Amino acid sequence: MTEELFRDDATLMECEAHVTQVDERGVQLDRTVFYPHGGGQAGDRGELVLADGRVIVIADTRKGEVPGDIVHVLANADDRAALAIGAPVRARIDVERRRAHMRFHTATHLLCALIPHPVDGCSITSDYARLDFHMTDALDKSVIEAGLERLVGEAHPVSQRWITDAELDANPGLVRSMSVQPPRGSGRVRLLEIEGVDLQPCGGTHVANTAEIGALVVRKIEKKSASTRRVVLAFRDAPAG
Ligand SMILES: [Zn+2]
Repeated sequence: MTEELFRDDATLMECEAHVTQVDERGVQLDRTVFYPHGGGQAGDRGELVLADGRVIVIADTRKGEVPGDIVHVLANADDRAALAIGAPVRARIDVERRRAHMRFHTATHLLCALIPHPVDGCSITSDYARLDFHMTDALDKSVIEAGLERLVGEAHPVSQRWITDAELDANPGLVRSMSVQPPRGSGRVRLLEIEGVDLQPCGGTHVANTAEIGALVVRKIEKKSASTRRVVLAFRDAPAG
């Protein structure tokens, strides 16, 4: 089990850790700030700095085969030899890339609030965020852009809290107010709340206030199938690609 520092504080960009496992898939640490690919959000990149100053480049982060394991994927497989079990490392993520993930991820919650239909696909990268909605109605690009601009401009605080299954059961109104039903069985779920806008279970990384998202554009609206509408968001200040 890797201690997931990013779950409770998404603003942590580096940490001290120790190597617990090294194999052909990558490196595992006792604790990490690297978010593993999941929930639609891309995995972090970055580097591990060894005690002697050597820098090991991490190309991606993935969940391991065992639940709770986080695998830091080496950009260069030969670096495996430099990583001894128990060795101390400084784990440092690519800050610019992660900030983009956090801004886009929070933006997808705003989109969920603006388009109240079930989501059946999601991809969050540093270049774009893509959400597929299960719906048949047409979507209006300018209406969505205006809605996003309003919610970003209103600077809503974003917060998270853990809640137990028992607390969920005791508060049926809470579940009703969520845009996505919480998963059951693990004993507790993490709720992400954008004050006055959206409440749903989510394990990803987010900014602390919608104002941090910045200006967005709807790059594309696509009819993926008779019952799926795809919306692709980009940052207004980003080069088109
Ligand atoms: Zn989220």
